[in-house]
Amino acid sequence: MDYSILVKIYEDLEGTSKRLEKTKIISEFIKKNHSREIIYLLQGKVLANVGAGELGINEQLVIKALEVSYGISKDKIIKVWKKKGDLGLTAEELGKIKFQKTLFSKTLTVTKVFDNLVKLSELSGSQTVNKKMQLIAELLTSAEPLEARYIVRTLLGDLRIGIKEGVIRDAIVWAFFPGVFKKGEIDRGEYNNTFKEVQRAYNVCNDFYEVIEFKDSLKSIKLNLFNPLKAMLFQKSKNIEEGFKVVGKPAAIDYKIDGFRVQVHKKNDSVKLFTRNFEDITRQFPDVIKIIKNNIKGDNLILDCEIVGIKDGKWLPFQNISQRIRRKYNIEEMVKEVPVMLIPFDAMMIDDNLLNETFKERRKKLKLIVKEEKNKIELVKQIVTDDIGEAEKFYNKALKNGNEGIMMKNLESPYQPGSRVGYGVKVKPTMKDLDLVIVKAEYGKGKRSKWYTSFTLACKDGEGNYLEVGKMGTGIKEKSEGVTFEELTEELKKNILEEKGREIIVKPEIIVQVTYEEIQKSPNYRSGYALRFPRLIAIRKDKPLSELNSLKEIEKYYKQQRNRG
Ligand code: ATP
Repeated sequence: MDYSILVKIYEDLEGTSKRLEKTKIISEFIKKNHSREIIYLLQGKVLANVGAGELGINEQLVIKALEVSYGISKDKIIKVWKKKGDLGLTAEELGKIKFQKTLFSKTLTVTKVFDNLVKLSELSGSQTVNKKMQLIAELLTSAEPLEARYIVRTLLGDLRIGIKEGVIRDAIVWAFFPGVFKKGEIDRGEYNNTFKEVQRAYNVCNDFYEVIEFKDSLKSIKLNLFNPLKAMLFQKSKNIEEGFKVVGKPAAIDYKIDGFRVQVHKKNDSVKLFTRNFEDITRQFPDVIKIIKNNIKGDNLILDCEIVGIKDGKWLPFQNISQRIRRKYNIEEMVKEVPVMLIPFDAMMIDDNLLNETFKERRKKLKLIVKEEKNKIELVKQIVTDDIGEAEKFYNKALKNGNEGIMMKNLESPYQPGSRVGYGVKVKPTMKDLDLVIVKAEYGKGKRSKWYTSFTLACKDGEGNYLEVGKMGTGIKEKSEGVTFEELTEELKKNILEEKGREIIVKPEIIVQVTYEEIQKSPNYRSGYALRFPRLIAIRKDKPLSELNSLKEIEKYYKQQRNRG
């Protein structure tokens, strides 16, 4: 199939914001065309579990490829990019000006685009930058301007056609289950049943292509070893009392480990580790693989675990080990420098599919296969209680031991992949708001490209220096109530000291009150700290700069969180 046919679908989808219309467009298209390539590319993916945006291709590389394939200078590309706020539209516009078919250009096919993306996914490491660039340039050289728009967006992992998984799922129901329509109208009862079955099948295999392949026998879709399923997610509760209301009494209460989640897949002697975003990180953790082989019994396993950093018998905060996930070379060195341990907390498969078993049962089975070993592998600490006092005591102990808080879980619940169901809640300490000043800002993308949408915040040290502590982009509205991007943009424009590409440096004047998830240590900011997920609460015109939070205070709050102090 010519790529231009798929591009027409992208364009139609981009042209409407109505979910029903989008569903119709996709369902009519996939009824006739549902190759693996098409189903994945519709979602901007190259593999069932790998989005093209995770290929490690950044905007700079795309700009370079545009330079090479269009013969246009970098400055000119950046100028258009600044105006358009989207590199896809930039490629399209420049393609129109510059577009001449070269001798070598061919009509692009879906297969060609897909093949090059797959090749890109197979390249890793810094040596491969040139190869990557060539693969991209090869596509851009042959692409018509509109095709270039979507190639660039696919590469950067954001198609901007407004389709989330739910739309594809609905489109599959419309396209392949005609029984949901009675006399041209949707039959609600039938629709809901089918919809649930399709969703269930998708949660298990995590691949819409497979769902379509198995459309006549959805129930036979099985958990697949080495094909990660979606992780079960949890809601948040204000406190333990609220938590009990959601999960019931008695409840299981686990430490909320401050590591990162891995899905362990094991078949006989072969083991793989996947992140929550389905990235295969097996290679980075030979130490963990060894632990699994030595200490976990069983030939067909899928387990939910945390990997946590450990030093002198104490757990370290997540950020201390995050480098291990990304590190692709000198891995043995890293293993020694940053030791970790494995903490299993749930099981989705132990020979049999356990998704429909109760949490109580799953935990019992998990316990039977794990041989605990100090500082290497331990089941997550757990109590079962209906008593608030006992739960509070456990919560404090969890914080004292370097955990983020606790997870409260319903003992009778199944494992529900993918959704933030009320089968469990997390309880963590809330942080004190901070007053900080904006020192830099950056233009947004797409329809937000006319505003500054990302703001670098700073605190003050004892000598009156402004030290950066993170970037904020949430809590601000596009329109109406609350603080808008427009308002902040107008304010900041009055204070510009210097412009650098899409970023400005501003006189420290606008003070904002922010909330955040946590304070982390960070080498990226001069303060040495970074706020995790800062969110705007208000602009504090009433506050003078002298009342900004100081570095000392931030240090203090950092220590207080989880009783580190
Ligand atoms: P957070 O940023 O608070 O970790 P999240 O959005 O990443 O939240 P949630 O589903 O809300 O994820 O919270 C659960 C997360 O906590 C899991 O993804 C997992 O990584 C981690 N976790 C740590 N200990 C446990 C545990 N005992 N049981 C379940 N999840 C745990």
